[in-house]
Amino acid sequence: MALAAEAKRVAAEFELTDNDIRKTVAEFVAEMAAGLAQDGTAMSQIPTYVTGVPNGTEKGLYLAVDLGGTNFRVCSIQLNGDTTFNLVQSKVAIPKELMVAKTAKELFAFLAKQIEVFLRTHHNDHFEKQLRRRQTVSTPEGYRDEHIFRLGFTFSFPVKQVGINRGNLIRWTKGFNIQDAVGKDVCQLLQEEIDLLKLPVKVAALVNDTVGTLMARSYTSPGKTSTLLGAIFGTGTNGAYVEKLSKITKSMKGDYDKSTGEMVVNTEWGSFDNGLKVLPNTEYDAQLDRDSVNPGIQMFEKRISGMFLGEILRIALVSIMKRPDVPLFRDDNSSHNDYRSTTTVDETSPLHTQWAVDSSILSIAEADNSVGLRALRQQIETSLGVSAASIDDARAVKEIAHAIAERAARLSGAAVAAIVIHTGRLNPGASSAPQPKSAAAIVEDLKNFNLAEAASATTNKLADTAGMAVNEEEIVDIGVDGSLVEFYPGYEDYMRAAMRAVPEIGAVGERKIRIGIAKDGSGVGAALIALVAAKMEQSNNYVGDLRQRLESVGESSEEQAIVVEK
Ligand code: ADP
Ligand code: MG
Repeated sequence: MALAAEAKRVAAEFELTDNDIRKTVAEFVAEMAAGLAQDGTAMSQIPTYVTGVPNGTEKGLYLAVDLGGTNFRVCSIQLNGDTTFNLVQSKVAIPKELMVAKTAKELFAFLAKQIEVFLRTHHNDHFEKQLRRRQTVSTPEGYRDEHIFRLGFTFSFPVKQVGINRGNLIRWTKGFNIQDAVGKDVCQLLQEEIDLLKLPVKVAALVNDTVGTLMARSYTSPGKTSTLLGAIFGTGTNGAYVEKLSKITKSMKGDYDKSTGEMVVNTEWGSFDNGLKVLPNTEYDAQLDRDSVNPGIQMFEKRISGMFLGEILRIALVSIMKRPDVPLFRDDNSSHNDYRSTTTVDETSPLHTQWAVDSSILSIAEADNSVGLRALRQQIETSLGVSAASIDDARAVKEIAHAIAERAARLSGAAVAAIVIHTGRLNPGASSAPQPKSAAAIVEDLKNFNLAEAASATTNKLADTAGMAVNEEEIVDIGVDGSLVEFYPGYEDYMRAAMRAVPEIGAVGERKIRIGIAKDGSGVGAALIALVAAKMEQSNNYVGDLRQRLESVGESSEEQAIVVEK
C-alpha cells in the first residue's frame, strides 16, 4: 500500500466527530456533578478551600515556592494592585539523591535552606530586621505576625487537601520516592524546617498549579471580568474552576470563608472517563495504556497531554514500519529523496524506545508548511533518529501528528465547554437568570440533540454573530498554561471548533469565551492564594475576638458573628 494512503487511514482513526464531542461533553458534565456529590469518583472534584478569585487590585509582597518534578523555584512577587506585578525568582535542580531520600526531613531541610538563601540574596534588609525581631521579642512566636512573609507552596503531587495550608501527601510521582513523607502534611514538613532556620516565613497556602493558573489569570486579565477556569495543558492536563458552594454537597472538613458563596474546585479531569464510556480508544491508545505504569488511570490525560502525545505518535509510526507493504522510513520510498542518500533508522532511534519521542515534534510538524518540509525532516533526524527521511516520510509524519494533536485539542475544548455549561456562566445576568440546568437535564438535551436542526441553527447563529461585538460583562474568561497550548500552532482554534459544535455554546457562546495564557502562573497564583489565606486568618481572628467580646456581655454570639461576617 502506498504510504500516503496508509498515513491517511491511520490519521482517520484519530478523528473525533462533532457528535463524539457532544457525547464527551455530556459525560463530562455528569462526572463533574457526581464528583461534587461524593468522594471516590473518577473525577475527584477536590475542594481547594480557596473561596474567591482576585480582581487585579490586590497588593503586597509575597513569597512563592514551586516543587515540580525537576526543579525547585523560589520567588517573591510584588503585587502592584493594578493588574501588574514584579517577580524575582531563583531556580535550583533538586539533587537526585534527595528525591529518594530516607526521610522527608532531608528533602524539606534542603527546600527551607533555598528559601533562606533567596531571602538573604533578594530581601536582605527585611530579612535581617525580622531575624533580629524574631530572636529578641519575647512573645511565644518571638515576632509580630504582620512582619512575616506569607508563602504560597505550589506542590505538584497528589495531595489530600484538608485546609488552605494543610494537605497530606497521597503518593509520590515523577521519580520521587520518600516513603516517610507519604500521608504527612507537606506544609507542616516545610514549616518545621523553616522554623528550625528561624526564618520569618509562614507557609500560608498549599497551591495546586491549576488553581495558581486560575488566580494568576484572574489577577492579570483585562477588565472587571473574573476568571472562571484555570487549565493546564503541559506535561499533564487538569483544570480548576469557580464553583457555587451550594453545589458542593459532599462533606468538607475544616474551616473556610462562606461569605463569597463560592469555592475553587480542582477537577482532576485527567481521570475523566477512566471507564472509556465515551473517549476514543484506538489500538495506539490501548497499547500506550497497557504499557504504562498506571493502566486504566488518567485516561483523558493519556489522550491529551505532552507526556503522552509523542508516545502515541511513536506507537503509530512503529505500527506502520512493521508493515512490509508500506514503505515508511525505507529507501524504496525514497526515489525522490533529495538528500540523495539512503534513509536509515538508527539502532538507537527513539522510535525503538518507550516514552523517548518528545511531543514538541508535533508542533514542528504542524508549523512546517514549506514545500520540502525541511524543518520537519531535520527534526525527524534529530528526534526520531531517522537520517535522510524522504519527503513522503515527512508528509506521513505530519498527517498523523496533526490528527493526534487535533484530537487532543478537541478533547481539551470539550472539557472547557463542559465547565462553561455546568456553571451556567454563558447565561446573561447570571444572578437574576434562571438557575443553570441540572447535569441530568444537560445530558438529556445533548442526547436528544438533532444534527440537522443544529446545522441550520449554527449557520444562522454564525450569520447573527458576524460583526457582533461581545459586551465586557458577557465574557467568560479562561486562563491556560502549559507548553502544548502555548506552542502547538492553532491549538486554541481546534479547541474552539469543538466548543462551537456543542449546542449549549454554539457560535454565539464560543465568541464570548476568552482564553488567555497565564504567564508565571505558578508564582503569581501562589502569591495570590497566600494573600487570600492571610485575609482569612485576619477575618477568623476578628470574628473570634468579637465572639469572645459578645460572650462576655452575654449575647448570642453565633447570630451576631454572622451579621459581622457579611
Ligand atoms: P510542566 O507541565 O512540567 O509545567 P510544560 O508546561 O513546559 O511543563 O510542559 C512540558 C510538556 O510539554 C512536555 O511533556 C513536553 O514534551 C511538552 N512540550 C514541550 N514543548 C512542546 C511543544 N512545542 N509542542 C508540544 N508539546 C511540547
Ligand atoms: Mg506547569
